[in-house]
Amino acid sequence: MRYKVFVEYLHLLKEIEIMKKHNFSSGPAILPLPVFEQAAEAVRDFNGMGLSILEISHRSPEFTAVMEEAKVLVRDLLKVPEGYAILFLQGGASSQFFMTAMNLLDQDATAGYIDTGSWSTKAIKEAEAFGTVRTLASSKPEHFTYIPKEYTIPTDLSYLHITTNNTIYGTQFKELPETEVPMVGDMSSEIFSKPVDVSRFDLIYAGAQKNLGPAGATLVIVREEALSKVKRHIPTMLDYRTHIKKDSAFNTPPVFPIYVSMLTLRWIKANGGIAAMQQKNAAKAELIYREIDRNPLFRGTVTDLVDRSTMNATFILADDKKDLNDEFLKLCKAANCSGVKGHRSVGGFRASMYNAMEIESVQALVQVMQSFERKFG
Ligand SMILES: *Cc1c(COP(=O)(O)O)cnc(C)c1O
Repeated sequence: MRYKVFVEYLHLLKEIEIMKKHNFSSGPAILPLPVFEQAAEAVRDFNGMGLSILEISHRSPEFTAVMEEAKVLVRDLLKVPEGYAILFLQGGASSQFFMTAMNLLDQDATAGYIDTGSWSTKAIKEAEAFGTVRTLASSKPEHFTYIPKEYTIPTDLSYLHITTNNTIYGTQFKELPETEVPMVGDMSSEIFSKPVDVSRFDLIYAGAQKNLGPAGATLVIVREEALSKVKRHIPTMLDYRTHIKKDSAFNTPPVFPIYVSMLTLRWIKANGGIAAMQQKNAAKAELIYREIDRNPLFRGTVTDLVDRSTMNATFILADDKKDLNDEFLKLCKAANCSGVKGHRSVGGFRASMYNAMEIESVQALVQVMQSFERKFG
């Protein structure tokens, strides 16, 4: 995909052509082109201030407006109900593994977890330091190739934790578990890709770098009444209440990742909002999975087809073609398809198709799969 931009170089305005690859990276991942353009411009000169976004105070009216707009857009796009705070924190989704338990799970209380992959496993391990953790269901014995469906959820849990989209294994909850227990959701790799009933959750978290912005910011949506219930001392920086009270600016927030996230949120809104994203993502997923199922040289890794992720499609070579992994990746590379190699713990291939990916990129990958079939079938 070629596109043209103007850059100022030694005081001359020069047109350059950039060759963009089809980017299937799982994260940090693709963002919309206009977002890259606006972000680059803001690094040079933010809103005509004669200053870069990187050199102004996080308490300046200009940056405060960015933070405010980002929060309004999150609230608007996800239809976040009253009573929930929206925060931009640091430490990645991985810090939320312990922060959620530290703030929501008392020493003598129990939380339930559904173990659907490496990220859930890590969340479980971290929560165990704070209270009783019950793994209510796990697809680990089957290498996380499906989302568990038959299990009982006790009613006396402080919360039920789920990883709604499993970035590494390519599975996704298509229905939320049926329970009255409030949930905590790791939505790092699906946030803003489809609607979500926020009212079912006490807390939602997402590292920005999958579907929202650059690495460095973590979005948290938390029901304020769920806080202040644990007895332990919580260090100031790890206490959600600190960041609610100070509007995510208790200390210096990650200004650039928040700014770029805000630009992405604007782009989502300008392009039809969450409903339009969902439709576009469904079309891309349909296209790749149809080829995976049709093409005799490939097979999908997810065993229960309803669980197939619309964000990360995982697939491997058919049993008799196993030694051709590198050949397929070579063809991908020649067709400018980048980031198709599967996670090191799963192998094979993974096509991550976040909001910013156009269907043309998925078509390009499908064509590579078809030429692979013609060459090696
Ligand atoms: C990437 C990812 C994480 C880890 O995010 P960090 O920001 O790197 O800590 C956690 N959960 C899910 C579902 C992810 O995709």
